[in-house]
Amino acid sequence: MTAGIESGTRWPVIRKDITGFRVRPNLVDYEAACAGFSWDEARRALSGLPGGAGLNIAYEAVDRHAAGGNASRTALRFIQADGSTHSLSFADLAQLSNRFAGVLRSLGIVRGERVFSLLGRTPGLYAAILGTLKNASVFCPLFSAFGPEPIRQRLELGEGRALVTTRALYRKKIAPLRASLPHLDHVLLTDADGNPEPGTLDLELLMGQAAPDGAIAVTLPEDMALLHFTSGTTGTPKGAIHVHDAVTAHYATGSYALDLHPGDIYWCTADPGWVTGISYGVIAPLAHGVTVIVDEEEMDADRWYRILAEQRVTVWYTAPTALRMLMKAGADRAAGHDLSALRFVASVGEPLNPEVVVWGQEALGRPVHDNWWQTETGGIMISNLAAMDIRPGSMGRPLPGVRAALVARDEQDKPIVRDGEAVLVTDPDQVGELALRPGWPSMFRGYLNEEDRYRRCFVGGWYITGDLAKRDADGYYWFVGRGDDMIKSSGHLIGPFEVESSLMEHQAVAGAGAIGVPDPVAGQVVKAFIELRPGWEASEDLRMEIIGFARKRLGTAVAPRLLDFTTALPRTRSGKILRRLLRARELGLPEGDTSTVENPPEPPTPETPPGALA
Ligand code: ATP
Ligand code: MG
Repeated sequence: MTAGIESGTRWPVIRKDITGFRVRPNLVDYEAACAGFSWDEARRALSGLPGGAGLNIAYEAVDRHAAGGNASRTALRFIQADGSTHSLSFADLAQLSNRFAGVLRSLGIVRGERVFSLLGRTPGLYAAILGTLKNASVFCPLFSAFGPEPIRQRLELGEGRALVTTRALYRKKIAPLRASLPHLDHVLLTDADGNPEPGTLDLELLMGQAAPDGAIAVTLPEDMALLHFTSGTTGTPKGAIHVHDAVTAHYATGSYALDLHPGDIYWCTADPGWVTGISYGVIAPLAHGVTVIVDEEEMDADRWYRILAEQRVTVWYTAPTALRMLMKAGADRAAGHDLSALRFVASVGEPLNPEVVVWGQEALGRPVHDNWWQTETGGIMISNLAAMDIRPGSMGRPLPGVRAALVARDEQDKPIVRDGEAVLVTDPDQVGELALRPGWPSMFRGYLNEEDRYRRCFVGGWYITGDLAKRDADGYYWFVGRGDDMIKSSGHLIGPFEVESSLMEHQAVAGAGAIGVPDPVAGQVVKAFIELRPGWEASEDLRMEIIGFARKRLGTAVAPRLLDFTTALPRTRSGKILRRLLRARELGLPEGDTSTVENPPEPPTPETPPGALA
């Protein structure tokens, strides 16, 4: 592929020349692809359980490849701390997951019951995910860095009957709260080594005793398969329920939004404790029969470049925080690594700053394709497709099969409904609440035990996402902000993303978070919190300079009036900036649910007095 850069409004449009590129022919014409799409048709790309009896995610992801002549192909390649690798073929994975399903059966864990994991990215995790689905039980991943309280909350809400974890995690995080978890009958240790902790079981031993070739329980498309907790950016995490039919969307979006092709070497950096790490770290790529790279370690710029180069990764799915980290580490880190195998780079989870898209083009040799979705949508909904020109800063366009719209809001910020139908924003570049027409297969079927909260998401025939966006005249969507994060200043509606993105263009700025703080005249004014790049010192001069820089780009109405330096913005463990926490700290309000906070609160440092500049 060659891509040219053409002058656009602010950031140049990245034009795709797709000659010779492995783009699916049906996606070159976006409009025609959308018009010709149906989910029933998409479902035909899957096999279904043998004998026409139902649909099971694990069968689509593993067994059909193992049975269909690809048994020895590598399904998962694990990269260990020292860089050494070990691999599982599709046949290995089929057997391991059969054994895990057998263990659940032997423990009396049945259809619909919840099996949780608290594990790093190790083979046991993948056996547990797929084996649970084969047993018709429901899998729920927990992020292994969670503390005991968030773990307890989720296990309790999800009524987890079994938990798969390690000895160290059990001792530290589960044993102290075991008594308060009446549903948790079985804890399986992946590393018991013949000597499980009291009250736990040796998973390896039980798997050794289970049959490697048990039948997969029959599941129907609408049977519950996965429970995913949201990131908790806006409040208490919700448990989103997903069904086996989700694999239809994972497969289709794997083609459309991630450009997966047979023979690809695919790497998704998201932790399997979150929905991205399951939908696109496990299900979509395996359903396509491609090889998945699993890095057992945490992020590190040099290590990551080495993995991309040495593993000859062709498709890479990552997140803005990770890309910003690489950008911060400097372009020279990428130089010297052969990234020529890399064909497609995509990002999700947070707004992707336009400069990162362009940086990708320079440092990785590929632009970064932003896409948008949520735990609730189960799969990618809006995306920059391989064959589509990229407008840096835009999330792209709705995928075939996805109907998106912007719902108008009234003065109280409530969606407007007339005659039972939501009123839609139709003019280009106007802000509305991003909404989706229900009906795609990976859509959540409820929030576990929160029927009311679920029902409130649907207004006038649409699923309301809680995000605000604009659509330009060509149908590209632009993220404006979460509804709760919007800033209203002197009659302007300001999205924090716009402010943060502009600040990030200043050479000293590594990270930025913007919130509204009350102001007697303007209602609210914008306050920014800044993380500096290495080598920069916080000072009054720098504060003035950055504010001046933002004013030139954004105008005085939108630019921050107040600016503080911080060493670490509060983030969720999945890397999202927690603006609600910035607000609460700024205004001295209770911090609310902090179970998913990455950084502990920090006291102001002497060199960064909270300062105000008008
Ligand atoms: P909670 O719902 O508990 O507050 P959360 O919304 O952060 O947490 P997720 O479902 O993990 O939980 O995240 C989805 C949200 O992440 C989206 O609603 C959106 O706000 C943000 N997001 C995801 N992708 C993008 C993107 N490409 N651009 C901008 N924002 C994005
Ligand atoms: Mg959300």
